Order: sequence, then C-alpha cells, then structure tokens
Amino acid sequence: MPLFGRRKKKDADQPAPVDQAADEAREAAAAAVDEDDALTEEEEAAAAAATDRALERTRRSFLGRLTEVFAVPDVTEETWESLEEILIGADIGVPTTLEVVERVRAMNLRKTADVRSALATELIAILEAVDAPRGRLWGEQPADAQAPPRPHIVLVVGVNGTGKTTAIGRIAWAYMQEGRKVIAAAGDTFRAAAIEQIQEWGQSVGFEVVAQGQGADPAAVAFDAIQAAQARGADVVLIDTAGRLQNKQNLMAELSKVRRVIERHVPRGPDEVLLVLDATTGQNGLSQARAFAEAVDVTSVMLTKLDGTGKGGIVFAIAKEFGLPVRFVGVGQRESDLAPFDPRSFVASLLGEPVERVAGR
Ligand code: GDP
Repeated sequence: MPLFGRRKKKDADQPAPVDQAADEAREAAAAAVDEDDALTEEEEAAAAAATDRALERTRRSFLGRLTEVFAVPDVTEETWESLEEILIGADIGVPTTLEVVERVRAMNLRKTADVRSALATELIAILEAVDAPRGRLWGEQPADAQAPPRPHIVLVVGVNGTGKTTAIGRIAWAYMQEGRKVIAAAGDTFRAAAIEQIQEWGQSVGFEVVAQGQGADPAAVAFDAIQAAQARGADVVLIDTAGRLQNKQNLMAELSKVRRVIERHVPRGPDEVLLVLDATTGQNGLSQARAFAEAVDVTSVMLTKLDGTGKGGIVFAIAKEFGLPVRFVGVGQRESDLAPFDPRSFVASLLGEPVERVAGR
C-alpha cells in the first residue's frame, strides 16, 4: 500500500505532483490500470481498515457510551453533559471538548441523530484544519510543489519509549516497499541499546544503518548518514535522535545542533521533522512533546500504539494544541503495522459509522 506518494483527491482538476520515483514505481506496477479510481480506493480502504482495527479499544469505550447517549432520540440537558464527559474521557482534552460541544449545542438541534452528524463534522473539521503539509514529503502538497531533491531527509524526534525506533523501522520498510533505498542514522548515541536496536531493524528489514560508538556526536552521525546517502544514491535518510527528557535543556540543544548541522550541508534542512507520540500516554505525552515541538520545528506527527489505548481522542488534542497534522498511526507490533492517517476515516471509525453517513460526503 503506497504510504507516501499517496495524495488525496480533493480537487480532481489539480492533481498534486507526486515525486518521481513514486510515479515511476506506480507506472511500472499499474501499467494499464486506471489508477485514479481503482488503486486509490483500494489503498484508502486498506488504510481505513487498519486504523479501524487499531481503534477497536477506543471505540469500545468511547462508542459504547456514545451509543447510549444516542439511543435516546430527543436532545436533553443530559445529552450535553454526557457528551462532554465521554469526549474528555477519550482524551480529546478539556478545552477542545468544551469548544466542540458548545458549537454543536449552538445549532439548537432537537434530535440526537442530528447531534451525532454535527459532532462528526466538527471532529473532522478539527483534523482537517491542520491537515495542510508543513513539511515537504507527506500530506497533500500544493499542486505546484516540487518534490525535494534526493536524498529526502527525515529527522525523527520523541521521548524514549514512544516507539521512535520502531517507527523508523516501519517507515523504512514502507519506503522500501515502494522501491526506495533507505539509510538510517543511529543518532541516539546516548544509549548503546538504542544503536543496537536500530541496527537490528536495519538487518531485519534490509536497510543500511550509519552508526558510531556510544557517546558520539549525534550531529556527526547525521552528517555521515547524509554523506553516505549522497554517495550511494539513497532516496531517504531517516535520522534517529535521543529522547531523554530528564535532561531537557541538553537534549533540546542537541536536537537544535543536529538540525543546524543538517542545514549546513543541505541548506533546505530536513524535509520532515517527525514527532513520535505514544497514544497510551495521553495528555501526559502531550506536555512532554511540547518541548520537542518548540525546539525542532516539528512538521508531522506519528501516533504510535493506537491499538493499545482506549483514548484515541488524543489525535484531536494534538491538532488543537499543537496545530500539527498526524500523518501516520502505529496500529500493532509488526513492521507493516503503520497506517496513513486520514481524518475522515478516523472519525468514521471512532463513531462507528461509514463516513458518508456521518459526514455527508
Ligand atoms: P523508542 O525508545 O522510542 O525508540 O521506542 P521503541 O521503538 O523501542 O518502542 C518501545 C516499545 O513500544 C516496543 O516494545 C515496541 O514494540 C512498542 N511499539 C511501538 N509502536 C507500537 C505500536 O504501534 N503498537 C504497539 N502495540 N506497540 C508498539
């Protein structure tokens, strides 16, 4: 399933440019297939199904209670109270919940079925408001955007334990599925185990990992990896970084340095700065992540362990509080358990209804 060259078709007259390798791979694979409809629908269905499965726990807790609210046909004061409680309980966050419920309430709807549709529309709107790309690789790029030159550079940041290394392994795997050559930089030089872990991913998935010893300068490792990628014609460089928050100031200084060193050699800087967040840490994870967002100019979020939480509503808090688009979700333990994030199918899954019905699409 193409994960990166994928572009939504919001405006059929203005297809966004996909980058060359993705185009070529698709042309070779699709030859005579009418990719416009057949392929895209299939991809979307596969992505939606993966997200849907990962949301099982959230849906059970969230939707189970929503179903009770909507089982009463007429709107009462209790409808609003229950809605607030359920949304806050799903980690949507207090300010966001109050705002959403207030907006729906102001519509003066009398039937809970209408409240449900309006809620879906509001939730989708929160996610779509931040859906525009901030980086150069992912999301629906402007029609006239040029893909950046190779190698594409992705800086991956996040607190230890969020699933950063696993994310790199999976993204590498997904790029390789598209026929791209990937090199990773073992930039978390603080922990010997982190270096080993990414090397293990490299061995099992089959990508090269550029590493130095424990304690080496992470910026130097990043630079080495970029040079290696240029020398070997790699398409993508994925740069791991340290994530020990107990030493926050040093960490942020280190990340800024990695960024500066990248910019010295590749003036356009990283094409994406991916913040990895663990969905199971909920609001706590958000406050930790704020520091990263401030230090390194994050462009995209990957939300891991969505399958392990009943609080997938954190996605809305990320959008509202950080203004950042979620691009991928981690949906399980396998290397292929990475799904592109689509606001509409996410909300449809959350509310347990096909998006056409809930959002009038
Ligand atoms: P890092 O310290 O940030 O590099 O975190 P790791 O990549 O080592 O991941 C920490 C743990 O989370 C590992 O046991 C991973 O298998 C697990 N993990 C990562 N992503 C997911 C996910 O999407 N779903 C589940 N269930 N587990 C995950």
